[in-house]
Amino acid sequence: MCIRDSVEFINRDVKGSLKDIDRENILPRHIIEKMASLGLFGLTIPKKYGGKGLSLREFLRILEAISRECPCIANVIFLHSMSYDFILRFGSDEQKEKYLPDIAIGRRILSLPFTEPQSGTDLANVKMRAVRKGEYYILNGVKTLATNGMYANLFIVIARTSEEKHRGLTLFIVEKEDGVKAIGPLDLFSARGAGIATLKFENVQVHKSRILGSEGDGFSLAVKGLALGRVPFSSIAIGVVEGALEEAVKWSSKRKTFGKPIFENQAICFPLAEVAAELRAIKAFSEELALMIERGEMPIVEASMIKLLSSELATKATKIAVQIMGGWGLASNSKVARLYRDAKALEIAEGTSEVQKMIIARQLLKEFKG
Ligand SMILES: Cc1cc2nc3c(=O)[nH]c(=O)nc-3n(C[C@H](O)[C@H](O)[C@H](O)COP(=O)(O)OP(=O)(O)OC[C@H]3O[C@@H](n4cnc5c(N)ncnc54)[C@H](O)[C@@H]3O)c2cc1C
Repeated sequence: MCIRDSVEFINRDVKGSLKDIDRENILPRHIIEKMASLGLFGLTIPKKYGGKGLSLREFLRILEAISRECPCIANVIFLHSMSYDFILRFGSDEQKEKYLPDIAIGRRILSLPFTEPQSGTDLANVKMRAVRKGEYYILNGVKTLATNGMYANLFIVIARTSEEKHRGLTLFIVEKEDGVKAIGPLDLFSARGAGIATLKFENVQVHKSRILGSEGDGFSLAVKGLALGRVPFSSIAIGVVEGALEEAVKWSSKRKTFGKPIFENQAICFPLAEVAAELRAIKAFSEELALMIERGEMPIVEASMIKLLSSELATKATKIAVQIMGGWGLASNSKVARLYRDAKALEIAEGTSEVQKMIIARQLLKEFKG
């Protein structure tokens, strides 16, 4: 699987269904099956577990290429991969051998339900209970806004195993067959088709061998896993910017007012030039961070920086593109209108812009307070 294959897949198997996906808010089964057969669910899983064994940099370029047309499919792939990264990074050998081969071929699709109705940003406020009973834990609670919630049959869940705020949280690998109920898809104006759902856990029994790390490690593992996920997540934003820029240039170089293409007005081409310059800088930053992660470094603050910059550029670029297309930019089947709606979610999912600023600001204090 390379960039060309992923572009071919989008053009051949997805483009014709984009309007239906947007309206129905769900991916048809045949598209999910095609994604599985192409290996899109195991892109960075090592070959020894049946994955494609791609590097992070190769993965980022594929996410970008898909997001130029269809950020929703890129979201599904990204969230699945960020979830299996928890198993790859923090799982035991037994957990890796048990789950990764099925994950790599899409027999198991993952969701990462951390958010609860009362706690999104404030992750340590998780209320879901996991009560020990012999060899098992009994999970009760509700998760929401879970990407892939409608498609997943494997979940990385954070739950409270004691009253301590941070040390009281533990990560579990939960199978759908354990009794997880998906309610949805939630009717958001963004990220339509990403299978976003509320998940109910009622007396869900999970064996202690399915804890990730150790009991009480949940908060620190979740923070690390989420932070590094912000680099691939930013590639979705980069793809959205590229898609919007391309559409805006194509349209404005053809569309004429007062006898000349609107692109020839500086009011039209200067904002596009600014977006192109910012995009170039963010792509270089993305490459640098991917290299750092491939070397085993943990650029957590920088991951917040690129998430903040790329998602805000996606919103800015798509807003400009809609404006440049005038009334046509608002049509229900307009690509830029869809990218505009999807861009907004990028500023909220994976930690809001405010959260990224908090992380960066904390680092500023460490560096410069004196
Ligand atoms: C498309 C999409 C997909 C998602 N997928 C998943 C998923 O797969 N798994 C999952 O667990 N969650 C997912 N989420 C949920 C997402 O992580 C949360 O929406 C996000 O963390 C914000 O939490 P909240 O919605 O509860 O808002 P809140 O935490 O209630 O925050 C509301 C607003 O207040 C701001 N705010 C909060 N505290 C502060 C502060 N101290 N200072 C300044 N501002 C503050 C926030 O930035 C935000 O703007 C998804 C969300 C979206 C939109």
